[in-house]
Amino acid sequence: MNHELLGDSPRAARSAVAGFLADRGEPSYRAGQALEWIYDHGARGFDAATSLPAGLRCSLDDAFSLTPLEMVSEVRSRDEVVKHLWGLDDGERIESVLIPSSTRVTLCISSQAGCALGCLFCATGAFGFRRHLRAAEIAAQFRDAAARSVELYGRGVTNVVYMGMGEPFANTGPVLSSLEVLHEGFGLGARRITVSTVGLVPGIRALAATPGQFGLAVSLHSPDHELRLELMPVERRYPLPDLMDALREYQAVKNRRLSFEYTLISGVNDDPLLAEGLARLVSDLTCFVNLIPFNPIPSQPAWKPSPPGRIAEFAARLERRGLRHAVRTPRGRDIAAACGQLRLADAARAPASTG
Ligand code: SF4
Repeated sequence: MNHELLGDSPRAARSAVAGFLADRGEPSYRAGQALEWIYDHGARGFDAATSLPAGLRCSLDDAFSLTPLEMVSEVRSRDEVVKHLWGLDDGERIESVLIPSSTRVTLCISSQAGCALGCLFCATGAFGFRRHLRAAEIAAQFRDAAARSVELYGRGVTNVVYMGMGEPFANTGPVLSSLEVLHEGFGLGARRITVSTVGLVPGIRALAATPGQFGLAVSLHSPDHELRLELMPVERRYPLPDLMDALREYQAVKNRRLSFEYTLISGVNDDPLLAEGLARLVSDLTCFVNLIPFNPIPSQPAWKPSPPGRIAEFAARLERRGLRHAVRTPRGRDIAAACGQLRLADAARAPASTG
């Protein structure tokens, strides 16, 4: 495989290109031009780099890859959410989702093809693990979806969440590298990038050790060990007390508000007493709780989203405890926009092509 420049830090990419050009006796300013094509123009190959001589474009393309993704499908919901299924070089498929609002366009990206962690409420978890994504593949989702955002909405991506397929901290090295590429290469503010985890403690500590002010969201879904264990097998390896310790450390270092995600499943984890437990659990953290009505998936036919009254009661308990929160209306339901659902639908249509 050619050297994937998008997987390098911008500094390393510049050094690799500069070395390549120097070996060919090219003027040094060409390196800056080449880098502009990667980060400012979002080129998917050097053949697009028209400010460079044609012969040099070919040589750069022979030596380096810009990791073009194949757009397998693009579906648009009634509420303007656009979901992409991307094909990777080995035939694996991953998803990203563009979610526009009046003030921003948020892009949700994948960090793995599939996922091994098996959370019961998740379509990706039901599919199982395929492989880790390389940093370049993660960054390429941003590049290609951001370009589509401009075409679709007339504006680029303003925020990124690592909340698509996969658990970012099961693939920590490439994820941290991709954060650097998005921030320092593509120029997205670190505060506009959020990594969402089910609570893998070493990854939380690794993110805390990075210099950037990246955001952290944690999928909680229950403040009770036994129930969380039923919903999320990761609770066995990193139980709530360990997770909370890591989050306190994270907040002490970063001084940033944390987000918690809590999917409300009717009759499963929506008892108002659990809201009280949740408020107690996070009482010494500066945080915000997103309450998300469960998005039905085929692997859990009996599960339903909590009814509005139940959600309101849950939210009222948090309110009484002074815990900041919001009920998130799921968007893109008509196109199966929740994590892993499009990949699942695609596999059901064409199992031979997706393994
Ligand atoms: S919720 Fe995240 S960690 Fe859990 S199975 Fe789905 S992708 Fe994996």
